[in-house]
Amino acid sequence: TDFSELGLSPKVLRAVTEAGYEKPTPIQAGAIPPALNGKDVLGIAQTGTGKTASFTLPMICKLARGRARARMPRSLVLCPTRELAAQVAENFDTYSKHVKLTKALLIGGVSFKEQDVLIDKGVDVLIATPGRLLDHFERGKLLLTGIEIMVVDEADRMLDMGFIPDIERIFSLTPFTRQTLFFSATMAPEIERITNTFLSAPERIEV
Ligand code: AMP
Repeated sequence: TDFSELGLSPKVLRAVTEAGYEKPTPIQAGAIPPALNGKDVLGIAQTGTGKTASFTLPMICKLARGRARARMPRSLVLCPTRELAAQVAENFDTYSKHVKLTKALLIGGVSFKEQDVLIDKGVDVLIATPGRLLDHFERGKLLLTGIEIMVVDEADRMLDMGFIPDIERIFSLTPFTRQTLFFSATMAPEIERITNTFLSAPERIEV
């Protein structure tokens, strides 16, 4: 498979070429076409497989149309740690360099004030750790009712860190009509239960 066969937009393809990627990895070849078609995706993949691009590339294509409203982000990527969230944000910058998208990173250790300013302007992509996201929600600064696409990255680490109740709460604050892309290195029973509850007829890709 070639990147040009996956259904990505020309601007995103250009960014991928400029990143020096020649061929999609198996998780990318498996996840990108159904994600672009609006399907839910369950990706079982470790770090290093190229899983980050497998959700960021289709998200950028889908979010390129439309515009974010104040305090109503259009998409959400949940990450277990600040470090991973920052890496995902860097990936968005790399792949969306030819597309106009607004983005905010909501992680602990950064003042609420500067995060509030971004949220108030309206964001296409919100990248967050669960605790910080819920802090903003409780402060009444943020609504999740406009979420079109939600990603859970490294769900197995979320489980290890005790974030599953937060994840369930966050899912319940987003619309049923959202598209969900869910990634985990392993499928523990608790993870299987969450996916059965919150994913709708997902395309399952295991690499
Ligand atoms: P990830 O598994 O998402 O953490 O990605 C692991 C590394 O692989 C990152 O440094 C990416 O920049 C790189 N990468 C992702 N997709 C490709 C690809 N198709 N070809 C070459 N490198 C890639």
